[in-house]
Amino acid sequence: MSTVLYEALGVRPIVNAAGPLTRLGGMPLAPEVAAAMAEAARACVRIDELQEAAGRYLAEVTGAEGGYVTAGAAAGLTLAAAACIAGLDVAAMDRLPDTTGLRHEIVIQRAHLTAYTHALRLAGARLVEVGYLGYPGQGATWPWQIESAITARTAAVAYSAGDAPGSVPLPEVARLAHRHGLPVIVDAAAALPPAENLRRFLAEGADLVALSGGKAIGGPQASGILVGRRDLIESVALQHQDMDVHPETWPWRDRYLATGRLAGPPHHGIGRAMKVGREEIVGLVVALRRFLGSDHAAACAAQRARLQKIVDALRDAQGVQAGFAPEADDGHRHPVVIVRLDEATLGRSVEAIVNELLEGDPPVGVSQQFLHQRAIGVVASTLRPGEEDVVAARLRHVLRAGA
Ligand SMILES: *Cc1c(COP(=O)(O)O)cnc(C)c1O
Repeated sequence: MSTVLYEALGVRPIVNAAGPLTRLGGMPLAPEVAAAMAEAARACVRIDELQEAAGRYLAEVTGAEGGYVTAGAAAGLTLAAAACIAGLDVAAMDRLPDTTGLRHEIVIQRAHLTAYTHALRLAGARLVEVGYLGYPGQGATWPWQIESAITARTAAVAYSAGDAPGSVPLPEVARLAHRHGLPVIVDAAAALPPAENLRRFLAEGADLVALSGGKAIGGPQASGILVGRRDLIESVALQHQDMDVHPETWPWRDRYLATGRLAGPPHHGIGRAMKVGREEIVGLVVALRRFLGSDHAAACAAQRARLQKIVDALRDAQGVQAGFAPEADDGHRHPVVIVRLDEATLGRSVEAIVNELLEGDPPVGVSQQFLHQRAIGVVASTLRPGEEDVVAARLRHVLRAGA
């Protein structure tokens, strides 16, 4: 919990009430996760072996054939695309992101485009967008639109987990893709909790699923999970690991060279630039074990009680209306408080208040996902014990409550 290091660097730690956002440093790690990372930091280990051991665990808890620890869900998407494009073709691995002459198109419903689909393109893929957005209704994709976009150039179909009204659901997308022999890549980065979602997308037909390690799982900020089909996970490993190897001494020589499955060891692939250290691999496994062993309903209830203190503290504030977001209030997802601000009464914009909080002392990060409603969001999953009182006090101060 020491912040001495940050202070020596002239950097102030923040109180993070925004959730596990990468730009705010993710989330504080549980002591046992931090301890596991510190222990891993002390001794070297063969990364291929450690990845395989971690992969077996990831496969076991997700029901997948194989698993891999990535540098985050975004890196997982890039690796997934690379695996779908190159398979076990060493020459193709060597060429990416140059996909000239390779099957490299990834079909995606427009409603599933996010800021993270860039990560798919990073491998050299071209996104082929299908479906409508907007009028009439909330947008729609028809199964035939996906099907008609599939050609000899298609390498995969991508799917983003989450609410996208009108889009073709995953089981149907998977049936359709599989009919054409194509794998489905699912971005499930932020789909936890509920913990059942660790298995759900694979059960619904996904071939590769990318999850964040540093969000609800509580693993290292720069960690992620990629699980799915054995051959695709093999391709991921071959394109991700350090490949400064000699054929005669490569630990996987029997598996790939003696059997003739590969023409030779691949060189550093596209994933080499997204390497994962032993600390992240170990930290992720320990965090996931902890996540699976925890009582999520109780954790959500505890977060709710902490957030209630913030709601109560703002009760008398002029131009401020704080309450729980109903959409996240199903007892399984992390509760969120929405603080609606009357900008005329407060004499400042919501954005100015967000900035004041982050630039104040101590800096407090709040969620900006409700800015379009002229509101800020407050989350407890990333608060350390007692920090809810700091958030309440800073909000009261900045909003001039009781002034
Ligand atoms: C957070 C997020 C990502 C990126 O996850 P990292 O683990 O930070 O790389 C990708 N997709 C979605 C939908 C996300 O919410």
